[in-house]
Parts: sequence; C-alpha cells; structure tokens
Amino acid sequence: MAKVTKPVCRHCIRYAEKLYLKGSRCESDKCPLDPRKNKKISAMAKTSEYGMQLREKNKAKIYYGVLERQFQKYFELAKKAKGVTGEILLQTLERRLDNIIYRLKWVESRRMAKQVIVHGFIFVNGKKVDKPSFVVDIGDEINIKKDSSLEKYIIKHIEEKKGQIIPVWIENFGPNEIKSKIARFPTRTEIPLSINEQLIINFYSK
Ligand code: ZN
Repeated sequence: MAKVTKPVCRHCIRYAEKLYLKGSRCESDKCPLDPRKNKKISAMAKTSEYGMQLREKNKAKIYYGVLERQFQKYFELAKKAKGVTGEILLQTLERRLDNIIYRLKWVESRRMAKQVIVHGFIFVNGKKVDKPSFVVDIGDEINIKKDSSLEKYIIKHIEEKKGQIIPVWIENFGPNEIKSKIARFPTRTEIPLSINEQLIINFYSK
C-alpha cells in the first residue's frame, strides 16, 4: 500500500485534506487519503497550541505553493489592511495569478499554472505577466497568448473538464474564448480550503 503514496500526496495525508498539488492525482484513488485510518494525523491532533498554529500555516503555504518569506509578507499586508486579517490573508493568496489560472481550470494544478506564467503565456490587461505571485485586482482581464500551443492545450483541457465549477467571483468568457475577468474578491466561504486561519494569525502575532 505504501507504494502508491508518491511525494505529493504525502502532503494530503499529513494535512488530512486533498490538496490537489498535482491536480488529477488527488481526484483518483491514488490519493490515499483517509484521515481516520492515519495514525500520524491523530498524533498531530494532540500537539501543542504552537504545533497546531505551525501546521495550519504550513498547510496554507503548501496548498498555495508559497515560500515562507512571501507568506510572511502577505500576513504583514493583511494585518495593515482594513477587515478581518485572516480572511484578507486567504483572499490575497486566492488573488495570486497562479491560483487564478488554476481556479479557471485552465490547467491541472498550481504547479502547472506557475510554469505557464513563467514561460510568458499569460497576459493581464493585455500585458504579459511572468510572475506567478502577481496579485490580481477587480476588473483585471486575463487571457493567454493567442494561437499558442498552450491555447490549444487549454481548449482541449476545458472541454474535458466541462461541468467543473469555476468560482463565481471569476468571470469566464467560455470555451470559445480563453479569457477571464476578476468580478470581485472571494468571500471566506468561497475559499475551499478547510483551515483555521486564526491559528495562522496567532502564529505570526507573537
Ligand atoms: Zn492527494
């Protein structure tokens, strides 16, 4: 049984949630997630307050594919902003360009989204943006390089993934036009990551 546990789904077991780090792998039964059967998880549940905070922070970092320094920067910005810090932190992570490309179902995973951005396939408001960490704003229009190999791939991919739900806060212009617009920012309930963000805030607030 251990044989099927490839590196990425190791994180799924550890954090007791399908994290979709490689997309379709987590949708199949190759993702060996069953928290109740997993001893590691029950052991973790008994850890200290600090341990729990650390775990929630690391879970969010892995889920969004963000390094510590950048994650801390997001926290600092969220702290300064008006509103609920934890919600703003998650909102900012959701607004990352790599996450948007993933949420649109243009590609399988955030890892792939990072790659297509770095390779210069993605345009925001008509300008090429090659930073996966780029944070989108309301009204931003996102499209991909016209007539590129990626465009063909995405058209095919969207066709295959038909019926999958795209978040309501991202406007999608549909299969014939690979284009999208940020309608608004997501609310907490629209962010499908089960995490206690308050623990992350407490972690950094010491
Ligand atoms: Zn998995």
